[in-house]
Amino acid sequence: MDSINSVSEVEVALSYHYVCAGCGKPVAEEPLPTFSHCEQCGNNPLIIQYNFQPPYSKSNIDSKERSMWRYRKFLPLADEEEAISLGEGWTPILPLEKTAQRLGFTQLLLKDESMNPTGSFKARGLSMAVTKAKSNGIECCIIPTAGNAGGALSAYCAKAGIEAIVVMPAHTPSTFQMECMMYGAEVILVNGLISDCAKKVAQLKTQRNCFDISTMKEPYRLEGKKTMGYEIAEQLNWELPDVILYPAGGGTGLIGIWKAFKEMQSMGWLTRKLPKMIAVQAANCNPLALTYMGLQKDASQYKGQPTIANGLAVPNPFAERLMLNVLQESNGTVVSVTEQAIVDSWKTLAKTEGLLLAPEGAALFAALKDLQQKNILTGAENILLLNTGTGYKYLENLTL
Ligand SMILES: *Cc1c(COP(=O)(O)O)cnc(C)c1O
Repeated sequence: MDSINSVSEVEVALSYHYVCAGCGKPVAEEPLPTFSHCEQCGNNPLIIQYNFQPPYSKSNIDSKERSMWRYRKFLPLADEEEAISLGEGWTPILPLEKTAQRLGFTQLLLKDESMNPTGSFKARGLSMAVTKAKSNGIECCIIPTAGNAGGALSAYCAKAGIEAIVVMPAHTPSTFQMECMMYGAEVILVNGLISDCAKKVAQLKTQRNCFDISTMKEPYRLEGKKTMGYEIAEQLNWELPDVILYPAGGGTGLIGIWKAFKEMQSMGWLTRKLPKMIAVQAANCNPLALTYMGLQKDASQYKGQPTIANGLAVPNPFAERLMLNVLQESNGTVVSVTEQAIVDSWKTLAKTEGLLLAPEGAALFAALKDLQQKNILTGAENILLLNTGTGYKYLENLTL
């Protein structure tokens, strides 16, 4: 006789559909969707929306899996689809007591994404996106990059057996170029910034019949990056920090973390107020800050300068509107920091904490003092900063 205990819990896969990020209208499904050409909104990112039926239990997290794929049930992946994985995600959160004390803060936590394959959080997005490219029969991917996205794409494509073409600024430190070559990618150097690389990609992708895997021009990199949000919540025992600082370039991390928070909220996992999301940019290239302050209509015509925090040199982010929405909804803001302040923080963090952060991560510490002086932060908040990558690839940018 069947006892009630022998009835196993039915695991229901989350269904999802694609919507235009501008107006939320569902978009017809394609095998491998790119951005939306919405009649109402024009060209906009395409976002994946899940059909949650709360309460959707936390037991759907695969807690034995020590990578971002522990959240596989919350990612757009069919049960039979195999993830192209190099062990990305499930990175540590480190308390920085000395730095907190030095700067006059109660609590500073660092989510250290430098531990990822290829040394940056780009691994999360590209693991997810290359997985989808592979299962859809794509044979070549092309990407414009400020450095880290190119390395990550090259590694995951190598693993997947897909051709990779990486277009990066000629001034990018040579380690970024060489890692791509080591992974077997074709590297094309362009004089200019990532926006100039994007123009080259637009020409080449049809010519070479390659899938364009640019930031926010397909919906999957965002899904991979949202796993940072799930991890922050789970690692902090479902009590989110008051404030999160994030170095914003194209914005996938910022938008992804927020997307994760909203998803967990709709599943009933988070009940308190969500964190203030604060974006940090380099003064050399701060289109988001200028739009936020009302100094330009949008970033489409902005011209930026290179910065030692290479990943922040994104003059015309495609998802600008979505980033601004996150700042607004979360009651956050955006601040800019100078090159000198980034270098100073970079060196100080290495000397005092033993952490060689990516300069993008170091920029956050440069912003802390400024935020306190402007009374945006009191110092009493629980603050989490995202170190988005390792500093080891950038040492050429530094004159000691
Ligand atoms: C790409 C990158 C960023 C910016 O990330 P977005 O998701 O484009 O905003 C920040 N830091 C590092 C180290 C990066 O590689």
